Amino acid sequence: MSFQVFGLAVSRGVAIGRAVLVSSSRVDVDHYFVAEEQIEAEISRLRAARDDVAAELSLLQRDLPADAPSELSALLDVHLMLLHDEVLISATKQWISERHYNAEWALSAQLEVLARQFDEMEDDYLRERKADVEQVVERMLRAMSRASSPDLAGGDAPIRRTDPGAEPLVLVANDIAPADMLHFKRSVFTGFVTDVGGKTSHTAIVARSLDIPAVVGAREASRVIRQDDLVVIDGDAGLVIVNPSDIVLEEYRFRQRQSELEREKLSRLRHTPAVTMDGECIELLANIEMPADAKAAVSAGAAGVGLFRSEFLFMNRAGELPTEDEQFEAYRSVVVAMNGSPVTIRTVDIGADKPLDRMSAGELRHDHGLNPALGLRAVRWSLSEPGMFRQQLRAILRASAFGKVRLLIPMLTHVSEAVQVLDTIGRVKQQLTDAGRPFSAVDVGAMVEVPAAALVLPSFLRLFDFVSIGTNDLIQYTLALDRGDESVAHLYDPWHPAILRLVEGVIRQARAAGKGVSVCGEMAGDPAFTEVLVAMGLRSFSMHPSQIASIKQNVLRTDSRRLGHLVASTFGGEDIWDGCERLRLAVTSAGTSLS
Ligand code: PEP
Ligand code: MG
Repeated sequence: MSFQVFGLAVSRGVAIGRAVLVSSSRVDVDHYFVAEEQIEAEISRLRAARDDVAAELSLLQRDLPADAPSELSALLDVHLMLLHDEVLISATKQWISERHYNAEWALSAQLEVLARQFDEMEDDYLRERKADVEQVVERMLRAMSRASSPDLAGGDAPIRRTDPGAEPLVLVANDIAPADMLHFKRSVFTGFVTDVGGKTSHTAIVARSLDIPAVVGAREASRVIRQDDLVVIDGDAGLVIVNPSDIVLEEYRFRQRQSELEREKLSRLRHTPAVTMDGECIELLANIEMPADAKAAVSAGAAGVGLFRSEFLFMNRAGELPTEDEQFEAYRSVVVAMNGSPVTIRTVDIGADKPLDRMSAGELRHDHGLNPALGLRAVRWSLSEPGMFRQQLRAILRASAFGKVRLLIPMLTHVSEAVQVLDTIGRVKQQLTDAGRPFSAVDVGAMVEVPAAALVLPSFLRLFDFVSIGTNDLIQYTLALDRGDESVAHLYDPWHPAILRLVEGVIRQARAAGKGVSVCGEMAGDPAFTEVLVAMGLRSFSMHPSQIASIKQNVLRTDSRRLGHLVASTFGGEDIWDGCERLRLAVTSAGTSLS
């Protein structure tokens, strides 16, 4: 039966594929296909993990204190039995050999099947055994991940799309955490749908950076879509069509081909300078999450990196932080890849929807707090962990010896925080000098993403070399709505006069003070805003590499003077609601808006 599910359009394009349902807790495993000749090796990885866990459990059992409750030993017996149970192991092997899934994916797919069977059991005792299977699988997955160590500088392994002739797959889940998106980058899926999430949730942001069609906030999707359903993801409309009719399918295949052609056309702009019709040069920079993304930035023709979200280096590490040397290698690899173009590294922005680790097992726990978006997030967390912060600053400064590095500090609210940060940078530089470690001059910038910072901007401009406007959080904190919450997504409005007034004010004041100003939130990559931001005086935009070409196309069609009067009257006293509406109409009627 064909039906539709509505959600939020967060990443453009059309994906057509068979649905793979993955429970939220299992999105963090790698999903890729293995080639025919690797199947045996993959099954050996599964066996090795089973043997490791069996040894681990036997050891635990042997070392149980004499007075330990007898249930504990019985529980370990059950787990050992499950480990050798054919329903788990043989069926998992089958996923590997028949569907060519990698071992982790196969194991979690089998867990999904078993979990559903347990859920349907009448008997309470048996139903509760589901937790035992989950724990055993969890141990096996951990054993497999111990066997493959993380590589920060490489970021992510090459995308493995050894799809053995099967149809493309799309992922359907209740939620995908931002950290899990790193796994998604390496996976075989060509699009995804989630029940939860807002337009500028970090999951949506990473989807845009991957340039894959996605719909979030689709509420019931993971309940109503079934395994292997044929699914069309219309990322432009925020629509998911399940089991479409032949006519609808043909229409979407046509649209898919059209957008590929459009992309090809846009990619020819790669070497064209971004200059407006009246000769204003616009700097188009890239936002990246992992070092490997620098390649995409270079091939998109980015003039540099305007935002390296360094927190992604800190995630998925079972609570263990990357060492100074690991971080240094990661930053250096980006600086080297950018080949002399500036690289703006933002210090870690952990917190809110980007927790350090879902299991938070390490020494440095990051507790979620009562309201994570308003809690110990970003620079607040950095200042509360001075050792970790100094280590990151040292790594960034050391990378500056290899190219042009700029430092960016997220979520500043108080001038005292800024002073503390600058003082720490000064001390770290002294440490490096004393140790004979080379580093170059580094500009330091403040992110303006809390309304308080925008309202007292001159105090920050006195202290920093440049500012970068984080519109995603600026909107979240000004309009008092959680950017990740789909139930208030309709109120998340970048056109709200309060937002445009703050953005315009920051651009104007920074320029007047002779300081650099950039926008690195999603507004910079939204074609609807190019002309308005240019008219406000913005000359530097930072966005996902995949958005650079279409923003460049808009820049080439823009006359920076056309909306000058309207901007001046809107923010210079006229009715601001009326003015902002006229601005919106001016760009939509000119056809530059794609949203
Ligand atoms: C922003 O808030 O606009 C921003 C660029 O930072 P992030 O999206 O990582 O919070
Ligand atoms: Mg932010």
